Amino acid sequence: MLLTLSTTHQPATDLGYLLHKHPERTQTFALGFGQAHVFYPEARAERCTAALLLEIDPVGLVRKSARQGGAFDQYVNDRPYVASSFLSVAIAKVFSTALSGRCKDRPDLVNTPIPLTITLPVLPCRGGETFLRDLFEPLGYAIAAEPLPLDETFPDWGNSRYLSVTLSHKVRLSDLLSHLYVLIPVMDEDKHYWFGADEVDKLLRHGEGWLKDHPHREQITQRYFKRVRKLAEVAIAQLMEGEDPDADAELAAKSWQKLAAKKPVSLNQQRMAAVAAVLKSHHAKRVVDLGCGEGNLLKALWEDRFFERLMGIDVSFRALETAKKRLRVEQIPLHQRERLQLMQGSLTYRDERLIGYDAAAVIEVIEHMDLNRLATFEQVLFQFAQPPLVVITTPNAEFNALFPTLEKGHFRHQDHRFEWTRPEFQAWADSLCKRYGYQVEFQGIGFESPEVGTPSQMGVFVRQEERQ
Ligand code: SAH
Repeated sequence: MLLTLSTTHQPATDLGYLLHKHPERTQTFALGFGQAHVFYPEARAERCTAALLLEIDPVGLVRKSARQGGAFDQYVNDRPYVASSFLSVAIAKVFSTALSGRCKDRPDLVNTPIPLTITLPVLPCRGGETFLRDLFEPLGYAIAAEPLPLDETFPDWGNSRYLSVTLSHKVRLSDLLSHLYVLIPVMDEDKHYWFGADEVDKLLRHGEGWLKDHPHREQITQRYFKRVRKLAEVAIAQLMEGEDPDADAELAAKSWQKLAAKKPVSLNQQRMAAVAAVLKSHHAKRVVDLGCGEGNLLKALWEDRFFERLMGIDVSFRALETAKKRLRVEQIPLHQRERLQLMQGSLTYRDERLIGYDAAAVIEVIEHMDLNRLATFEQVLFQFAQPPLVVITTPNAEFNALFPTLEKGHFRHQDHRFEWTRPEFQAWADSLCKRYGYQVEFQGIGFESPEVGTPSQMGVFVRQEERQ
């Protein structure tokens, strides 16, 4: 996948300062899904071109994705060859300073519109050239687009949905990168690599100064979020803030934003699928969900007839109320009432109600507890309730390095008391196994980067006498 970026602003080699990449060097960056290379095919005072080349590992994507119920299911897919949301991720990582409009060596130039031309040799574009023009013309770009044939040897087959595109404009580099960051996934309309926890914020930040007034802002927002319609509604409500003083919309936007900030959307689905798979493979039909929150896991398990008895416990009344609504508890017929129960309770108190289940799930909960409470929780669960199987998931702090907007040392959610690296989680798990007679195995959840692992980590604890 290739993107080139050229300027004729004199001296054109200043592009190197703006991009923070030296024209004489080739640089390589590791990304969660492959590598990005930056190099300059030409670097003269009259004209300078920078190239961003992405190498995506399609087989790796599919293998990891298949294990985790993820988005990619075909070994042969177009992702390595086309401009997609992977390119947006690469722009945010490789050109982060330029994207944010900073340049200490050429501070004036950052704020100066300069002639820029970009080429995208293969751009998937649902809606064709018309839609491409709808997106870029209102922003002032001159556009040249050539449809690519499906197969050159069979001209009768007609054209593919891919375009070879050149866009030119006198524009600030940071604006151009923001336009690409938002609009490339919009044109592609395929699955996102992953949704960051702060996706609404990201769209609003990169859309600042142009998206609000774009004639197609609703369509852009809807397509940016694909099927995650709620997030699109939040973003649209925020874009319209001030124009439509609808307090309800604003309120809804705020609460969805909170929810969105809680965890990445697609990662959450992968997490539920991974946990359900573990429960089933251990024949755990009666499951207690500790810290069930708004009922994400319970909903997934409820829809699967394999699970015979489900109980959710949470300390938050408000979360339980939401869970009740989502699971339509009031409408459950009498003969099924036993199958699903929700109760308010704290995980740091011994509770008879925790006894008698095949498994306990503790999904993204431990990091919400103070460390001294965690020690009490361990006793309540592993010493007192002692279910044969315990599944615990928690964020992998090492992966935070890949969230482009998460500052170093910050947690993914404001209520997190800690976030553990893989060795930290494993040390904790190993030590409690020794104390309480369990054995543990670990699995990652989400896309795996060779350096920092997966976004979420899972420990599967089996009570020892349950093993042959
Ligand atoms: N398991 C859910 C929710 C995770 S958010 C999911 O994956 O979607 C963490 C949840 O843990 C919150 O709902 C919070 O109310 C609950 N929680 C935190 N500390 C708790 C405690 N000591 N006792 C019971 N619930 C607790």
